[in-house]
Amino acid sequence: MPGVEIKSVVIVGGGTAGWMTAAAIARVMGPRLSVTVVESDEIGIVGVGEATIPAINLFNQMLGLDENDFLRNTHGTFKLGIEFVNWYERGHAYMHSFGTIGKDLAYIPFHNYWLHEHLLGRGGSLWDYSIDFAAARQNRFARMPQIEGTPLPGIIYAFHFDASLYAAYLRRYAQQLGVRRIEGMVVDVQRESESGDVRTLRLKDGRELTGELYIDCSGFRGLLIEQTLKTGYEDWTHWLPCDRALAVPSERVSPLTPYTRSTAQAAGWQWRIPLQHRTGNGHVYSSAHMSDERAHELLLGNLDSKPLAEARPIRFTTGRRRQLWNRNVVCLGLASGFLEPLESTAIHLIQVTIQRLILLFPDRGDNSRRRDEFNRSSAAEYEYVRDFIILHYHANNRVGEAFWDDCRHMSVPDSLTHKIELFRETGGIFCPSQDLFQLPSWLQVLWGQGIKPRAAHPFVEAVSPGDRADYLKGIRDLIADAARKLPLHEEFIARNCQSAGAVAPVR
Ligand SMILES: Cc1cc2nc3c(=O)[nH]c(=O)nc-3n(C[C@H](O)[C@H](O)[C@H](O)COP(=O)(O)OP(=O)(O)OC[C@H]3O[C@@H](n4cnc5c(N)ncnc54)[C@H](O)[C@@H]3O)c2cc1C
Repeated sequence: MPGVEIKSVVIVGGGTAGWMTAAAIARVMGPRLSVTVVESDEIGIVGVGEATIPAINLFNQMLGLDENDFLRNTHGTFKLGIEFVNWYERGHAYMHSFGTIGKDLAYIPFHNYWLHEHLLGRGGSLWDYSIDFAAARQNRFARMPQIEGTPLPGIIYAFHFDASLYAAYLRRYAQQLGVRRIEGMVVDVQRESESGDVRTLRLKDGRELTGELYIDCSGFRGLLIEQTLKTGYEDWTHWLPCDRALAVPSERVSPLTPYTRSTAQAAGWQWRIPLQHRTGNGHVYSSAHMSDERAHELLLGNLDSKPLAEARPIRFTTGRRRQLWNRNVVCLGLASGFLEPLESTAIHLIQVTIQRLILLFPDRGDNSRRRDEFNRSSAAEYEYVRDFIILHYHANNRVGEAFWDDCRHMSVPDSLTHKIELFRETGGIFCPSQDLFQLPSWLQVLWGQGIKPRAAHPFVEAVSPGDRADYLKGIRDLIADAARKLPLHEEFIARNCQSAGAVAPVR
């Protein structure tokens, strides 16, 4: 028998996590549920988080957002992947581009056909079979779901945007759907004596707020999930040793690259995210291997345009909350854990956790079974992403550099060792359906980080050598031709979604 519905939700925090959650719940549940967001201007938001992955399109579609309007309002640009510079070794670069690589034949994934040719010195580069890579390399972009007249998929894309404008945009959206916003700082949390559930939030000005479900989007502090409920945190610093970041905006430059760049530094890495009005930059580093002064110096020394503000320091501990749902509190965003932004996964993790919460939404009865499912799935999801990020650090050839030597020699989770060794042995990549990153992603990063299989799958030889070569060449040519015909990224934006605040680029 269905339980009795709960009627009120209180969300603590109005950053990206808080407003994504409010917008989604209001959209799906409608007026049957009262949603209140309490946020504090005095505390503010973390204000970084500018690069996304393609799954954000599903979130935007669910909300029914107009993509051009969304980009105009957030100074957004398009993203086709992440370029990794100096990660495997200094002077080396590769891209984790979105979308597929080639096209599978029967049961055999495409890369086996390519690998077979490659080991014979033919077939070009792995990235010759990615339309996203070809477009990114030429700074081109258009919405193209299919390569016209072929069975090949087209461009798969995500966005870069200004994080504070994104939260503000979703806030307007959620408020139009009836979400109530309260400006105020929560200073005290009352709990039920028997169940231990959160009962009331008291604000600095004395007002009180009560809900049946509390969603903690209060950022790193985890006001309800940790400070109140003491849920506990699993620390992954031994696998992902970076614990600090410096973020600084700089002038917009041209060409407007449709990809994020991640450049490995001596003890971490530097991001570069092109927006319509500025470039977002940051340096993520390990404080055990580098001083703050040196990190600052490296960041500023590697900007490709003039800084527009002082660099802002951020500290974090990589890991996840032991339970994302504890009693009547669910946490999302930075309150739920932190995985460094190397693969731009945080906003995605918020989005899938919201979806899971909606599917397992509590009622006034016993919620223990759905809570267990929620916690188990959320933990697995975090761990899959964690393994993928560790791979970038661990598989390096930067011999003689202390940070990179430590990463190369550290022991990694068994799940990652298994994946790496299986790829070496068989060329095969097997991803559970819950893993955010599927074969094309793992393939590009494994290969890009220098992990090479011994041989391709033997069954590729069932196709004659001539047909194999023709098949590969056909795909390569179609992709190269389609990419050449795309407009420049900058032109596409100017025509479709230029924001009023966009500034002329520095050339
Ligand atoms: C260096 C860095 C780079 C990142 N880059 C990316 C990226 O490229 N892509 C990506 O997907 N993610 C990225 N992230 C993660 C991303 O920034 C966050 O996931 C996202 O911004 C969500 O933050 P949040 O809403 O959880 O927290 P916050 O933005 O910190 O918001 C917390 C909210 O809680 C409120 N609050 C806190 N305490 C109280 C209180 N007592 N009373 C009332 N209100 C309170 C605050 O006012 C604020 O509104 C990055 C993170 C960092 C640190």
